[in-house]
Amino acid sequence: MPKRKPVAGIINSILLSPILPVVIFATFLVIASGLKFGIDHQDVAQINQNLKSEARGLALELEKDFDAHVTALRRMADRREIEPDMSRQAWQRDARNYLEDFGTYQAIEWIDADYIIRWLEPVDGNENVIGDSVALLEKRRQALERAALTGQLDISGVVELKQGGAGLVIYAPINEGERNNGYIAGVFRMESLIDALQTPRIQANFNLDIVENGNVAYSIESNEPPNRGFVQNARVDLPSINWLLQLTPTPTWLARHRSFWPWVTFSTVLLMGMLVSLSTLLVQLILKRNRALLRTRNELQQEIDQRKSVQQDLARLESTDALTGLANRRFFMEDLTHTLTMADRQLRQVALIMIDLDRFQILNDSLGHQFGDELLIKVAERLNSLSDERILVAYSGGDEFMFCQQQVEDIDEVINLLGQIKQAFSEPFEVQGQSHSITATMGVAVYPQSGLDADILIRNADIALYRAKESGRNTYQFYTEGMQDREVMRLELDKDLNQALADGQFVLYYQPQLDLATMQVGSVEALIRWQHPLRGLLPPVDFIPLAEESGRITDIGRWVVQAACRQLAEWADGPLAHLRIAVNLSGRELDDDRLVDHIQQTLEFHGLSAGQLEVELTEEIFIDNLERNLGQLTRLNKLGVHLSIDDFGVGYSSLGYLRDFPVDLLKIDRSFITGVTERHDDAVITRAVINLAHNLGIQVAAEGVETEAQLNFLRSHRCDLAQGFLISRPIPADQLMVRLKGGISFESVASAP
Ligand code: C2E
Ligand code: MG
Ligand code: MG
Repeated sequence: MPKRKPVAGIINSILLSPILPVVIFATFLVIASGLKFGIDHQDVAQINQNLKSEARGLALELEKDFDAHVTALRRMADRREIEPDMSRQAWQRDARNYLEDFGTYQAIEWIDADYIIRWLEPVDGNENVIGDSVALLEKRRQALERAALTGQLDISGVVELKQGGAGLVIYAPINEGERNNGYIAGVFRMESLIDALQTPRIQANFNLDIVENGNVAYSIESNEPPNRGFVQNARVDLPSINWLLQLTPTPTWLARHRSFWPWVTFSTVLLMGMLVSLSTLLVQLILKRNRALLRTRNELQQEIDQRKSVQQDLARLESTDALTGLANRRFFMEDLTHTLTMADRQLRQVALIMIDLDRFQILNDSLGHQFGDELLIKVAERLNSLSDERILVAYSGGDEFMFCQQQVEDIDEVINLLGQIKQAFSEPFEVQGQSHSITATMGVAVYPQSGLDADILIRNADIALYRAKESGRNTYQFYTEGMQDREVMRLELDKDLNQALADGQFVLYYQPQLDLATMQVGSVEALIRWQHPLRGLLPPVDFIPLAEESGRITDIGRWVVQAACRQLAEWADGPLAHLRIAVNLSGRELDDDRLVDHIQQTLEFHGLSAGQLEVELTEEIFIDNLERNLGQLTRLNKLGVHLSIDDFGVGYSSLGYLRDFPVDLLKIDRSFITGVTERHDDAVITRAVINLAHNLGIQVAAEGVETEAQLNFLRSHRCDLAQGFLISRPIPADQLMVRLKGGISFESVASAP
């Protein structure tokens, strides 16, 4: 196979070579010349043949003429034989008869045996030869002797006649041998002998030579110079002389006999050659043009391909997020719309998963955007490894990613994917030389049950995601019908939050913390409520996360501090002057650099000592902000504000920070206290936390105390403070006043409002 290519290439280049038409033409020229040569050759042979038969014909005519003369002379000789005594007169009469019959004779003579001319007729003009010997030449005498001996004719050959001019003499012996009585001789002039041949036809066509013994003896010249290239001889069969008739044609005769076929053949073949080579040239031109067209087409195709790939690159760039390299939101939406159309036809389900990275905002704010970007890239890499032909991963912006799972037949497939996504976060991420554990919260909407178009599905997955965040992070939620109403409410509340501060719709409720050693209330926790004009009193869970998201939490936090301080100031001269108020701070509030200044100014404004205020941070927030906000917390601590860790025990396992940082109070999370009298584990943990805190010199509070049994357990294990519905629900300040004045009596949780 590889051998063929060069062969084909060689054939191709030969076919397209400019020499090819020339070679073809040359070949035809050679063939034409060959054919012409062959036919010419035949033609010449034919002409020679014609010339030969012409010569032959003339020779025969001459022979016939001769024969007649010879016969006449023979007859006269025979008469002399029969009548040896014939008189001169009788002989002369006889001779005259012959002369009349044959006008060609110059004279008829009787020559005696001694070769002397005796008688002759006509006498006029010939009288001077009477008595002359004809055997003056030895050669002639021998010839006559031979004739007398054999009785055969003798012809003299062309001789100079005594009467003048060229002629020839025929000698017929009278008797042979001993009885010989001389000869009857006929003298001919060549002119009159040849006369028969000297016709206009012959003269127009030929030059005629009579060649005797190799020499031209007599010529009849043609009207025009003959073509010496052609000559044909014919032997004239005469007794005792050796004559050749030599015929040379005139150009006119030749022209008449020449064939036109050699030229016709030559020019026809040559014409064919020209046509074939012209056609070849034309085919070559077409082929070359085709090649050029093909080349142009290939170049065009290449250009088109290049443009296509540029367009594809552009399309890819347009559909790809520059940072993560994943599909962007726009492309994701287009793809989702298309996928839904397909799913509608195939009666399949499509799952849309929205992913939000937990605590990403905190990490991004504290470690910088560069860090945030690198972390996003790492997360994107891991998530992208889960994509396949059925699963599209996209980056939606911020700390949100999206998955679209096509052709879902069973909801288990979605749950399996959710498990894989969760698994992707199980290993910490190496960013800037440090490993960071991060988790994700997911919201899922499934087509068609959770929405029929892309926009609705996205919105509902968002709602589900929000719910998942509310119920604690690092988990997922499927969208359900009820979520819609709650989402509407959430959005309305978000809108209303704008107005709430300005309109003074927030109030602080207070929940006492009972000192278990003295059974006195030394402090209260301020818990915010929103007195919504339409929805009534709303708990923090309904609006704090909203406020955190929108950033309004900072202003709310300031209001809480102000309201708590104002309350402390109000109580200053009354029976509740000893109370300390604990306020809750969210992580976002700690980010505010002026937080400590604000607290200090507010305390000063109301003439309060810092020790009257306590700040509660959840364990999670505390840890997250420890490094970054160490300065803030240290300043707070130095100011004299008490610091407590809220919801202790649910978040972090590392307790090292307790040793390094001066915490005043640990609040054991309600989840441990609820089971403390029933569950061994909870009791063990609670005891351990109490001991740990005491060993570190930190006070311990128990949250969510609802039964006396729990209270007793805590007292017996020397827990310092107790807070819960058993002691009091969170209540407004005026009610607190009444309640504390009356002294603490435990309320039944069941009977509580
Ligand atoms: P937290 O700081 O742990 O507050 C204690 C929560 O437990 C309060 O819920 C309280 O009503 C509830 N609680 C107390 N004793 C019992 C009990 O015996 N049984 C049960 N089931 N619950 C009990 P609340 O007031 O709804 O507040 C919820 C969370 O909202 C608080 O948890 C706190 O993290 C946050 N929060 C409250 N007020 C504020 C505020 O002014 N600012 C900020 N940033 N967060 C606040
Ligand atoms: Mg609290
Ligand atoms: Mg708590």
